[in-house]
Amino acid sequence: MNKQCSVVVVGGGFCGTMVASRLERDSRFRVTLVTPRPHFEFTPSVPKLIANPAYGRRIRVPFVGMLKRTHVCAGTATNVDADSVLVGDRRIPFDYLVMATGCGYPVRLADRRNVFTVHRGEDAERMAEGLPGAASVLVVGGGLVGVEVAAELATKSPGRRVSLVHPHDRLMDRHAKRASHHAERFLVPRGVTIVYGERVVERDGNRFLTDTGRAIQADMAVWSTGVRPATEFLESFITGGGSARGALAVDAGLRLVGHENIFAGGDVTNVPEEKTAQNAQRHARVIVRNIHRHLRGQPAVVYRPRTGPLVISLGDATGILTFKDLAWGGRMPGALKWAIEWMELARYGGILPQPTLADVPRQTPKEIRSVKSASA
Ligand SMILES: Cc1cc2nc3c(=O)[nH]c(=O)nc-3n(C[C@H](O)[C@H](O)[C@H](O)COP(=O)(O)OP(=O)(O)OC[C@H]3O[C@@H](n4cnc5c(N)ncnc54)[C@H](O)[C@@H]3O)c2cc1C
Repeated sequence: MNKQCSVVVVGGGFCGTMVASRLERDSRFRVTLVTPRPHFEFTPSVPKLIANPAYGRRIRVPFVGMLKRTHVCAGTATNVDADSVLVGDRRIPFDYLVMATGCGYPVRLADRRNVFTVHRGEDAERMAEGLPGAASVLVVGGGLVGVEVAAELATKSPGRRVSLVHPHDRLMDRHAKRASHHAERFLVPRGVTIVYGERVVERDGNRFLTDTGRAIQADMAVWSTGVRPATEFLESFITGGGSARGALAVDAGLRLVGHENIFAGGDVTNVPEEKTAQNAQRHARVIVRNIHRHLRGQPAVVYRPRTGPLVISLGDATGILTFKDLAWGGRMPGALKWAIEWMELARYGGILPQPTLADVPRQTPKEIRSVKSASA
């Protein structure tokens, strides 16, 4: 009898879902996906839910139907040790573990009433419930997420006062300068007030105070700054394996430093590159390859960080396409974002084939022998 390898994947976002869907095709693996929600969600379109919560149905693909052989374990991982994951009171043993828990935007204000994040669909839906009663909204942080949120508010609810506070001297400061200019030229004429070089540090009722003492009146705020990898549940396990800001330190093969059989991919890692969905998927492909290679006793393939193109929406019709020092704004990038959303959801929903299978190697005789020798 062949013993199956047990692979536990924690987190059903871009990285975890792709790892599970690729590994489950190989009958040597028994895959368990630990996920707090029953669907994959296309995060880049979550800001659209602020103005149109019904859009949530379009950007979610249920795991039932998508994952054919994976056991979907509903819940949140609460702890990990060398060979098992704890989900509530259930302990799930693993031969391989893949951590793909992404990141969050912890709100750094004591009083969080009417302060929302738009990192997950349900957060945006909660915000949408209160939005009709808010005459003014403050967006905290002018990175990619803050810009998309401000653009949604400015284009879909004209008349509402929108302010944006950003600690740097230009929007989306990690991207091309031209992208920042496009974003500013889009937002300001649509009534968004941008405050540069300040941070929101306190709140007094509906007055949000910055570190220079400026007070901004807002009925509601969207917190989109200070991203933090979702690793709190690992704190007792990763002593020495973590890095600055809680990211998981991985080696060139995307293994948690010091662990042969534990991998981490996506936003939760310390890989020096922009945290994007495309990069999370690239991590997933390398992790799948390296699990196969480890099983065959081969050295891990190396993950090479890269800067890929990024499309930022500015409302429904326009957007910005940026790559390295270049940026293009207008309707073409706006249409491209729709196309990407459609293609990715079709892929996760099984309408389109998943990207190349070439990197999933075939089972070799040596591999079969090593699995057999591990059988009970
Ligand atoms: C509003 C917004 C817009 C964006 N736009 C773009 C874009 O246009 N293009 C682009 O490339 N990228 C974009 N990104 C970034 C992109 O969404 C992320 O880089 C990508 O989702 C990372 O994938 P991941 O698999 O690492 O994490 P995620 O996709 O975030 O998935 C992590 C999953 O793990 C779950 N999880 C967390 N903790 C636990 C636990 N303890 N147990 C079990 N499960 C857990 C989470 O609930 C989540 O489902 C955007 C992000 C946001 C928030």
